[in-house]
Parts: sequence; structure tokens; C-alpha cells
Amino acid sequence: MCARVGGEIIILEKAIPDTSSSADVFTGVPSEHDVLNEVRALAGELRRQNGVAPQDLDFTIPIGWEERVGYLDGQPVRRLIIFLRSTGCEWVEKTGGCTMCGFYCATSRGRAVSAEEYIAQFEYVMDAVDLGDYPIISIYNDGNLFNEHEMPVAAIEKICSYINNYQNIKKVVVESRIDYSPDEHVLRMKKALGGRQLEVAFGFESANPLVMNLCINKGFSTNNFDHFHSRMQSMGVLTKPLLLVKPPFLTEAEAVRDIVETVAYCVSKGIDYVDLEVTTVEKNTVVHELWKNNLYRPSWLWSLVDILQQCRERFGDRAHVYVSPWTYSVESLDWARNCGKCDDEVIRAIDRYNCRFDVTEFDGLDCSCRDSEWKEAVTKADPRKIPERIREQLAYVRSTRISSL
Ligand code: SF4
Ligand SMILES: [Zn+2]
Repeated sequence: MCARVGGEIIILEKAIPDTSSSADVFTGVPSEHDVLNEVRALAGELRRQNGVAPQDLDFTIPIGWEERVGYLDGQPVRRLIIFLRSTGCEWVEKTGGCTMCGFYCATSRGRAVSAEEYIAQFEYVMDAVDLGDYPIISIYNDGNLFNEHEMPVAAIEKICSYINNYQNIKKVVVESRIDYSPDEHVLRMKKALGGRQLEVAFGFESANPLVMNLCINKGFSTNNFDHFHSRMQSMGVLTKPLLLVKPPFLTEAEAVRDIVETVAYCVSKGIDYVDLEVTTVEKNTVVHELWKNNLYRPSWLWSLVDILQQCRERFGDRAHVYVSPWTYSVESLDWARNCGKCDDEVIRAIDRYNCRFDVTEFDGLDCSCRDSEWKEAVTKADPRKIPERIREQLAYVRSTRISSL
């Protein structure tokens, strides 16, 4: 899906003055800033290899849609996810983007997509699917729906007017970074939805600032998150943090711990639904470079089971932890897996778990890899501090990139 073509995109230091941004400046010590700059330099270089979007991409046709489970008043319901073909996330243009995210490949890579094109994409879905069958509609644009540089407000309002024709749609979910979600745009959408629930899903990823900023290059802090959450609450808008399972540069055990601690943070803020986004290996990303050099392995499925069991034990009904299927708008080269023999069975159990958050679905699951390879993976430690290991791994990646030129 993600074609490599000739030419280059222009990565701008600061593409457009970011008047909407309320993000904190990362407040690490100077050496951490240097590491962050190295992460961004590599991420930016990789994006420049992206090339330009294929000429024949038709921006009146969406990337696609699929059905997943959603929740209304605690009950599982049908949810339709619509993946719009979009302009691309501005964070990529500014900083190279998050270390695991290859979505930019599926976008116009900066070329403005007009309101008419977005509206035509939504009409395309309406012609193909009966939206009335879905109490929840999620509209994703591989970026930030509330960033006017990515999506014209006129398009959002027209799409909402279409949604208003379906009585059965009770809730609309969109994605947008917290620093690209100005009140004015959120409120306009809320109003245009005529009383339906609006939920903003956003990549929170980790409550640990080092993981959030150095491992992922997310560019904000838990303070931003707290502020955003109360802003949305005051407007009657729901928020859904998306947490990243197995960011790069963490050991398997650290990655498990990081998610459980991040769920604890969300619970402490009164958030009882979170989505786990499980890292896959996508082209032209820092994660891809690490993976090519055997410095990254996606999460074990046993780690996911462990996370879900720990969350249930620790938080009970205060945390509903949903595992997003790892199908994205770009091709994945590697994904969460076990030994290969037990993968299907564990994935089916996770699917069943997702319907009712019932961890008894994992009872009786077993495979020889659980006591051997997985146990070995979760007992492996890395004595280096996070900045140090990032620096060393990036230096290694750079040396192999140079020698392969
Ligand atoms: S994860 Fe979200 S914020 Fe990060 S680069 Fe991808 S679309 Fe942008
Ligand atoms: Zn196995």
C-alpha cells in the first residue's frame, strides 16, 4: 500500500506557525535534548526518503473502512472506522514525526486536500455502507482532524450534516493530537453533531516523559494531557487516550510496566476507557531502521495477555483496556507475535476479550514458548539509561546506513 516513488518531500523546520499548539517544551536535561535532536534528525531523514505521493492517488476515494467493536453505555456495539485519505500529520513535517508511525506514506504528504475531496470520500463510504447500522462512527485521517492545515472545518461540518441524517448514530470518534485541537474547532464539530457524543482519541502513548518524548518523539507532557482532558470535559467532549505497546528502546519487561503505569495514570484522572495501540513495523520510520538492525522486536502476544491480566487485577472495572487490532492504513512489516504456532489462538482470545473485557478468555491458553522464549524476553534487562541506549542504537543504525550506501 505504501509505494516508494521518486522525488522528495520537503521537511520544514517549522512548517507553519503553530498558533494552535499548547504543547509544553520538553524539559529534559541538555544531554536529553541532544538525544531528542538525534531522534528527530533520523526521523526527518527517513521521511525525506518517502518520496512524493503517487500521482494517481484519487483523493475523492478513502483509504478504506472496517468494522470493529465499540462501547455505548458499557455495552458492546458495532463501530465503523473510516480511514480518510488525507494531507498528513503536521508533526511529521515539523519534527520527522513519532518514531513508530508510518502513516505519512498513505497521505498526500503535505499537499492540501480540499474540503470537496474529503466530502467526496465520506459520500463514497455512504454509498457503499449503511451508516445507520453503526451506533458509533470513527473518522480517522492519519493525522489531526482538528488541525485546519490538515482538514478544512467546512469538510467536518458537511460530514456532520450527513451524520445527522442517521438517527442510529449516537457517537462520533475522531483523532487529533492534543496540541492541534483548538477549542473553537472542537466546539464547532460538537455543535454540528446536534447532541451526539463526540470523542477525541489522541496518542498519549506513555505517562513516562522519557518514553513519551525520547523513545517516541511525542512532543508533549502529562501536564498538556491533564489540561487537554479538562478542556474537553468542560465542553462535554469525551477523550480516549491511545497508549503505545512496546515503544522502541525499551525491553519487553519495561514495555509491559510502562503500559500498566500509564493505565494507572489514566485511572487516577478518572479515565476508565483506554485503547492499546500495538506497535507494528512501518516503512520509513525509526522503528523500521531499528528492526532492520535487529534492535527492535514487536511485542510478544504473551506480554499483551500479561498487561491485560495485570490491569484487571490492579484496576478492576476502573479500567477498560481495549486492544486495537493492528491493521493500519499502511503496510506493516512485522507485528505482535509469539512463536507462530500459538499466535492465532491468542489473537482470537484477545478478540473475544475485547467484547466484554473478560480476562477469563485467557484461561487455559498456553504454549511451550510462554515458559521458554517469552520468559527469556521478559527477564532480559538493559543496564543502560534510556538516553544512553538511544544514543548507542542510533549510532549503530547510522553506521550501518552509511556502510550500505
Ligand atoms: S502517531 Fe499521530 S502525531 Fe505521531 S506522527 Fe503519527 S499521526 Fe502524527
Ligand atoms: Zn507459542
